Amino acid sequence: MLNYEKLKNQDQKIYQAIKNEEKRQAEEMELIASENYVSEAVLETMGTILTNKYSEGYPGKRYYGGQKFIDDVEKTAIERAKKLFKAEHVNVQPLSGSPANAAVYMAFLKPGDKVLGLKLDHGGHLSHGHPVNFSGMLYNFIQYEVNSETGRIDMENVRKIALKEKPKMIVAGYSAYSREIEWEKFKEIADEIGAYTFADIAHTAGLIAAGLLENPVPFFDVISTTTHKTLRGPRGAIIMSKEKWAQKIDRAVFPGMQGGPHDHITAAKAVAFGEALKSEFKEYAKQVIINAKTLSEEMKNFGFKIVSNGTDNHLIVLDLRNKKISGKEAETILDKIGISTSRSTIPNDPNPPMNPSGLRLGTPAITTRGMKESEIKKIALWIKEAIEFKNNEEKLKELKKKTKELCLSFPIYK
Ligand SMILES: *Cc1c(COP(=O)(O)O)cnc(C)c1O
Repeated sequence: MLNYEKLKNQDQKIYQAIKNEEKRQAEEMELIASENYVSEAVLETMGTILTNKYSEGYPGKRYYGGQKFIDDVEKTAIERAKKLFKAEHVNVQPLSGSPANAAVYMAFLKPGDKVLGLKLDHGGHLSHGHPVNFSGMLYNFIQYEVNSETGRIDMENVRKIALKEKPKMIVAGYSAYSREIEWEKFKEIADEIGAYTFADIAHTAGLIAAGLLENPVPFFDVISTTTHKTLRGPRGAIIMSKEKWAQKIDRAVFPGMQGGPHDHITAAKAVAFGEALKSEFKEYAKQVIINAKTLSEEMKNFGFKIVSNGTDNHLIVLDLRNKKISGKEAETILDKIGISTSRSTIPNDPNPPMNPSGLRLGTPAITTRGMKESEIKKIALWIKEAIEFKNNEEKLKELKKKTKELCLSFPIYK
């Protein structure tokens, strides 16, 4: 691990906060579906002198001098991403998922244009039209839903709304949806009305890159993804598209949305893509899915309800209504035993978003630590017990100790 000697001598306050967080990550368990642990190579790259450089523009056409090495870094990131996702064009500069989506909308839409996205309490993201987000303020979002019985996206419902409303763009790809997405059906519907297809694969990009989930990149107009979730790279995002939209997208990212790219992060993206191209990453991604399916089955055996009754990817959403506990309360109890999770809405949630009825659990981070089915079975039992014994401080303490022991035997950094 990095030793932070200089920081320690210069700034005790921040040094101490980092050390505390390092200890927390080592001793506690991360079941937040959007989190992961980057490799030490990716960590090192983020901490390099590349942060000193300004590189507005693109390789070969910059607005500042001194780019001969930076261009190479950015071109490498682009080439690796193209290979990973079979993309015709890639922009590796977006600073994070939300700014990437802002650039996508800017490239294809005018303010006020109609966009069709998933209803947010059904698993969509803030940047897919939430009223408090720029997307909901600038564009006219209308919504499709998941089927309330199956918990799956109802493609007939999507088609009906699309034909009636004729949106200019259809958005697919979600933050709390555990099933395969029928990209081809989305594409067919969009073609019927001449709409753009936009896939936001922020959550599942690593599983798609590993070839385990279907890849929309070859036939959707535009695809965005964060690089820090299942893809296990630095915090950031990329946008992919067909070659014919390359210029539109590049202009929207710079100068449309952003100034200078973060070259140290671009380099770390390249390193992470290099890792994802290796066969070990495919094995990792397979285990992520096996672990999520195991967790889903174990929780079902304990009488928990799972939205859509299972999972095809890295996450599950528990519907806690039959357990007489809210998502927020469950999140707080699990925090007490050293397990981080995130409360989540469930489709047609009777409770408000701040105190929803669901809890989202994901396996990308614990799988990076090396945990497999036998560990998942223990974790499922502890989650069940923590909820069952939520008022028993002794029991919670005992569970916290077990969590810590397990985590310490699966170190993140050796
Ligand atoms: C996480 C996520 C984003 C946003 O990413 P940030 O980097 O947090 O801005 C966008 N879309 C989806 C579907 C996500 O899950």
